[in-house]
Amino acid sequence: MSELISLAGELDAGDALARVRDRFVLDDVVYLDGNSLGALPAGVPARVADVVARQWGELRIRSWEESGWWTAPERIGDRIAPLVGAAAGQVVVGDSTSVNVFKALVAAVRMARGDAEGDSRGAARDEILVDATTFPTDGYLAESAARLTGCTLRPLAPADVPGALGPRTAAVLLNHVDYRTGRLHDLPGLTAAVHAAGGYAVWDLCHSAGALPVGLDEHGVDLAVGCTYKYLNGGPGSPAYLYVRRGLQDRFDSPLPGWNSHAEPFGMRPEYAPAPGAVRGRVGTPDILSMLALEAALEVWDGVGIEAVRAKSLALTDFFLRCVEEYVPEGRVESLTPAAHAERGSQVALRCDDAGDVMKRLVARGVVGDFRAPDVLRFGFTPLYTGFAEVERAARVLGETLG
Ligand SMILES: *Cc1c(COP(=O)(O)O)cnc(C)c1O
Repeated sequence: MSELISLAGELDAGDALARVRDRFVLDDVVYLDGNSLGALPAGVPARVADVVARQWGELRIRSWEESGWWTAPERIGDRIAPLVGAAAGQVVVGDSTSVNVFKALVAAVRMARGDAEGDSRGAARDEILVDATTFPTDGYLAESAARLTGCTLRPLAPADVPGALGPRTAAVLLNHVDYRTGRLHDLPGLTAAVHAAGGYAVWDLCHSAGALPVGLDEHGVDLAVGCTYKYLNGGPGSPAYLYVRRGLQDRFDSPLPGWNSHAEPFGMRPEYAPAPGAVRGRVGTPDILSMLALEAALEVWDGVGIEAVRAKSLALTDFFLRCVEEYVPEGRVESLTPAAHAERGSQVALRCDDAGDVMKRLVARGVVGDFRAPDVLRFGFTPLYTGFAEVERAARVLGETLG
């Protein structure tokens, strides 16, 4: 035990990101649930107070222009873009992840159909493949998107996707990191396989953006969505984002073409004409209060590189697994998270028979993770504010709880 405590001290002393923790409001609870709701960045309360009291209270309608409200979805999209490896002009913020999954998937099928029109073989692309282990909302929306577009939905394990691709594949919806096990999927390889089959790849980045490099542009991803309240710390229900690769933007045919996506929104024309660029992904009036809270929250990333975040994330999860092995009685838990770094996100999922009850006891002792039915203890590691001494303490309390 004392050996792991002193090792934690050494790791904290050598941690280049240790000081970023001061940019957050935290206490002595070990908070390992940033993959569900990121902690509050210290600059947010004052910003929100200003948005409410001055921008809304005093400037009122003028704030749409003078406070930059109208262009916030694109501006904040450009702030998120470097974190997911995208050049500017391809990410727009707004709506929930669920809504963006729907937009992206229907638009992907429409693109695939558009390709087939000029195809002499008359190829009818009529299949959507979806990760069967996905966060449920993605599966529900994929089912609806399939029904609306006349496609067949094929749920399967991500490892089985390459073998299932073919001339019928229209779109493939995948998670970069599995929300339950923390498994990191092969985004470059799977995207290339989808492209080789002539389909479109839609990635859900909810559990990877802000925790590890994504490389959307580099890997030629077509469309991507993600939420901002997990590793991006945007606050409860903060708006999600949609990435549409630049080369596809002219062909992005939104199934929710609201007036905010119009080329001339204040022209109030009866005919729809889509705006160019990422703006085309917008729908209706943006939720300014949570959007500007998110903008303030993103300032914690100033001067922070995603590569350093990834290195620390792996060191944190490695150290946690080592401490668990040391402290937790043999056979009480089993890690569902891959040991290989190339397959690991920024969380550790431990299977444990009485997980629901165990997590309640951990929370009562100041170690907050979460329980995922039926038997998973899930611990998320946010490298911006989680330290190694906290990791050691979490594993020690877990060991005592299970001992
Ligand atoms: C958190 C999460 C969501 C959340 O969707 P909302 O629309 O924000 O409720 C969706 N998909 C995945 C994979 C998630 O992890």
